[in-house]
Amino acid sequence: ESKLQLVHRHIRAFPDFPKKGILFRDICPILKDPAALTAVIDLFEEHVRKNHPQVDLIIGLDARGFLFGPLLAQRLGVGFVMIRKKGKLPGTTVSVSYDLEYGKAEAEIQEDAVAPGQKILLIDDLLATGGTLHAACELMRKQQAEVLGCMVVIELKELNGIDKLKPHSLFSLVQY
Ligand code: 5GP
Repeated sequence: ESKLQLVHRHIRAFPDFPKKGILFRDICPILKDPAALTAVIDLFEEHVRKNHPQVDLIIGLDARGFLFGPLLAQRLGVGFVMIRKKGKLPGTTVSVSYDLEYGKAEAEIQEDAVAPGQKILLIDDLLATGGTLHAACELMRKQQAEVLGCMVVIELKELNGIDKLKPHSLFSLVQY
């Protein structure tokens, strides 16, 4: 069995969660299986070493980006930084607001977390509409960071979130 097949086998689908009509992709089985979690980090590591060896920082998105980001950053020997939902980070922060299906959300980063010109990669568990990662790219622009690309475990292709991220590239392990 390949690493990708192992990862695939550890993603579950739940119909009508968190509300009717949504098919939720659940990554909890990956975390519960050390071999599957290792496969995820191996695949991300291989991608980064091959395509973005110059990366300075891995930036993880609240909350499931925090499950994979630090493990990857440690493998690569680089730092990890959190982008959080509003009101969670101490000190001076930079924030960006973005649209959700209903209403608005705000994402924040500590002002001193990324230095101008630093080369960063963004990581989250899943890309749907792309709104969340797009907001994160906007925060990185405000920080004058150089975005090398975005990475997710799962890409929901029919929502075309990849278009919203342009000109930034997306790397995904599993596509639905
Ligand atoms: P987007 O902003 O691309 O529409 O939504 C992506 C964000 O919502 C990610 O932070 C992700 O964690 C969460 N999300 C949306 N749908 C799902 C899903 O089916 N499974 C998981 N695990 N996360 C989801």
